[in-house]
Amino acid sequence: MTVRTATCRCSQLTATCRGEPVRVSVCHCLDCQKRSGSAFAAQARWADEHVTLTGTAREWTRIADSGNRVTYRFCPDCGSTVAYTIENWPGVTAIPYGAFAGTDMPAPKFSVYDDRRHGWVEIFGEDVTRTTSTGAQKQPSLDLRVGPD
Ligand SMILES: [Zn+2]
Ligand SMILES: [Zn+2]
Repeated sequence: MTVRTATCRCSQLTATCRGEPVRVSVCHCLDCQKRSGSAFAAQARWADEHVTLTGTAREWTRIADSGNRVTYRFCPDCGSTVAYTIENWPGVTAIPYGAFAGTDMPAPKFSVYDDRRHGWVEIFGEDVTRTTSTGAQKQPSLDLRVGPD
């Protein structure tokens, strides 16, 4: 079984992820831009029971555009977000790709908030499902294909 380890920048907080992710996506929403410090964010999701957080984490919860509560777990020392969960998307934990730095990660299959994508960014792949902010709000469901990121 594949085991990947995500860490914060100072390495005291880690997330060990067992098996392949159930969803790999990029999100262009404004919050993901601010969280990641980049033009868009990439993340993978695993079932909660396949993720183990080790170390000290602080939590911060915000209300997303969709109305969902999103809870971020981050290192109190270096500030890196290592995991986050969405209230109405129970059972899965998202891990930012940046926390896996240096690890070979699968290509994304979903491009979320594609209407917020910078004009110079392109997510390649004919099998990539693209949703807009409107579409994501219409179906904030358990469907892993269209959920908010
Ligand atoms: Zn840290
Ligand atoms: Zn987002």
